[in-house]
Amino acid sequence: MIREFTCIICPNGCEIQAEIHDNVLVSMTGHTCPKGEAYVKQELTDPRRNIATSVLVKGGELPLASVRLTSPIPKDQIFAAMEIIKSISLTAPVQAGTILLKNILGYDSDVIVTKTVNAAYDVAPATL
Ligand code: SF4
Repeated sequence: MIREFTCIICPNGCEIQAEIHDNVLVSMTGHTCPKGEAYVKQELTDPRRNIATSVLVKGGELPLASVRLTSPIPKDQIFAAMEIIKSISLTAPVQAGTILLKNILGYDSDVIVTKTVNAAYDVAPATL
């Protein structure tokens, strides 16, 4: 059977047509580098995805801080991981690069902050 994939490894997003027999890759076209083949093989055996989302920040200059996983996790665990991430709430200030949660769901992947959120001023700063 022929299956179509859009490679998500880089922004090129190559459209790949792959001939698959018994879940084994036989041939493929459309990829422009070897990572495309590795991606299709991974999709056939252990599809993985990353998560980029945001979490609530109390007392910040912004209400949300963006976060992501440090490495992809199995696609069928994304919903469970999102439930965990949704339950996190932070208090400003929040520094980009901070690890919020190590080894989510037992995988070798951490939840890290990707945007700094400074504390909001309690009182407007004095003007000169
Ligand atoms: S096949 Fe290579 S160039 Fe194309 S999207 Fe995948 S990684 Fe990028």
